[in-house]
Amino acid sequence: MAEPKTALIELIDKIEQLGQFQDRIDSPATVDQIWDVFLADIRNLIEIEVCALFLVEEGSQEFILQQAAPKDKGKLCRDEINYQIECDIFSWIVKRRQPALIPALVFKNVNSIVMLPLATVRRTLGVILVVTPIQESFITQENLKLMGILAKQCSLVMENSLLYDGLRNKHLSLEKANKEIRYLSETDPLTGCYNRGYMNTHLPREIKRAARYKHSFSLAMCDLDHFKKINDRYGHQCGDDVLKLFVETITEVIRTDSDWLARYGGEEFLLVLPETTIQNAYRLAERLRIEIAQKTIKTRGEKIKITASFGLTGFTADKRPKTISPETLINTADMYLYRAKREGRNKVVSGPYMD
Ligand code: GH3
Ligand code: MG
Ligand code: MG
Repeated sequence: MAEPKTALIELIDKIEQLGQFQDRIDSPATVDQIWDVFLADIRNLIEIEVCALFLVEEGSQEFILQQAAPKDKGKLCRDEINYQIECDIFSWIVKRRQPALIPALVFKNVNSIVMLPLATVRRTLGVILVVTPIQESFITQENLKLMGILAKQCSLVMENSLLYDGLRNKHLSLEKANKEIRYLSETDPLTGCYNRGYMNTHLPREIKRAARYKHSFSLAMCDLDHFKKINDRYGHQCGDDVLKLFVETITEVIRTDSDWLARYGGEEFLLVLPETTIQNAYRLAERLRIEIAQKTIKTRGEKIKITASFGLTGFTADKRPKTISPETLINTADMYLYRAKREGRNKVVSGPYMD
């Protein structure tokens, strides 16, 4: 009488342990972590020669080998599944959603194979192949049922993990798409510097910040000299290359962590220099002017020389006008630029901000 009672208690213990499968896995778990816990549990239920995990790939709906223990038996497991598919056993096992005991077809010197479909009410996740040296007739219904419980537990945790992965991937690709959209909406496609849209939102913010914290602020309008002639002489594509190289030259010189350049339109650019006095901005603009004038742009078999003019203005903490608008700052810079053009081009003209 004592023996069946002990066996029953052992069975209950096993069921209880299988029920705690989820508790032994940190959430969110990877497929590999779930696999390790599964392997430990299945070894408590049956002697194992080889064990392999196949998961359904969403796109192709194919069963893809994910794990094999020992690892070098993965190919054999793949062959076994292929053979079962050929013999039409596989779809029957998957549809049944119950552990199935079959004779080994590909594995030599082995007695039987237990197939454990991984499925939840929502979908089929995959299948686990268990190769055991135990003869088919010695594997009890009770043992198969326990393996079924384990497979069920494993399916639930696996589904959560796959759902989590799916959501995380969707989130990541959405985040990437958003970044790309933001980049495209803020960037001038030809030169890669900021566009007018970026300028419209960020310039007022920069000005407000400088005014609030009583910082200096400078701004320069830069315009290529006689650019129309470059287009006329070398063609529009060369003109485009010149614009790209102009932006490259400026970007190399400025501090890109705080200073920024936006294409205002055509061959006109706005250089924004936060926390920079007009005197320092003038020095920088002069450096840029010289750098541009000294450069020979080699493109499409041509050697092109260009110059640029700069109109510069700004404000300092102590000489800050009461109200500063982006429009009047730009207009003031434009006025100095016009003066630079009138005074012969290839020139920097700076002056105070005028209301
Ligand atoms: P100034 O020294 O007075 O500024 O003379 P400019 O010839 O540079 O000025 P103007 O305003 O007369 O001509 C600007 C030229 O810039 C005309 C236009 O075709 C050219 N342009 C504007 N945008 C682009 C562009 O994206 N690519 C090319 N290749 N040319 C452009
Ligand atoms: Mg010009
Ligand atoms: Mg112009």
